Amino acid sequence: MFARTAAPPSILSRSSAPHLGHSLASRRHRSVYTTGAACPSCGTPIPRALAPLCPSCSSLLPPPPPSTTYFSLFGLEPTFGVDLKALKRSFLQLQQKVHPDMFSGKGEVEEWAKAWSGKVNDAYKALVNERERGEYLLSLHDVVIGEADPVTDPELLMTIMETREALEEAQTEDEVARIRQQNKDARTEAVSRLTSAFATSPPDLELVRNLVIELRYLDNIDQVCREWAPGKGVPNLQH
Ligand SMILES: [Zn+2]
Repeated sequence: MFARTAAPPSILSRSSAPHLGHSLASRRHRSVYTTGAACPSCGTPIPRALAPLCPSCSSLLPPPPPSTTYFSLFGLEPTFGVDLKALKRSFLQLQQKVHPDMFSGKGEVEEWAKAWSGKVNDAYKALVNERERGEYLLSLHDVVIGEADPVTDPELLMTIMETREALEEAQTEDEVARIRQQNKDARTEAVSRLTSAFATSPPDLELVRNLVIELRYLDNIDQVCREWAPGKGVPNLQH
């Protein structure tokens, strides 16, 4: 078991919730969801569930309000243990319904489609990757990790130094492939620890934060391995 040093509270910086960022289109049409809540085409009341098409006339509805989380967009609970098959199914269905090509030349509605499509793509990319999903969930808890935030886990620091040394000493692609495989195994293990950290009630946010930083490092190591070439030198590893 890793020894983990408790970080000072200042490390858990409060964010201004970047996921609430307003896109132009959603800001303009927010009122559809907050007042009236009726389909602009046929006037049918819009149900609470987030769906891009009017249940009555199947017209595309204005993009979801900025406060819509990536999870609610796909009808998922905001938990780390996402059902990836359900996520992909929901993504493909949504993306098909809002594809901008289908609304080409339709003025404002085409803009809505682009806004829907952009949000759906961003949401899928963030949720399908464990590190990004962990970071997004942290941001929903108002915890944001800055690039300059210190690493407080001595064991992680040691691993990073050793890995960099091994990469610097590597002479062949086979050696680098071995380092990359070890790194992948470490990532699998870190994801499993992250799953446990999120599973406690309430989630252990300090542990989650450390594990997300660890995953950032491991993903960086993977990238450095992919870009490795004999004599090229090894860049500083970062999170
Ligand atoms: Zn309608």
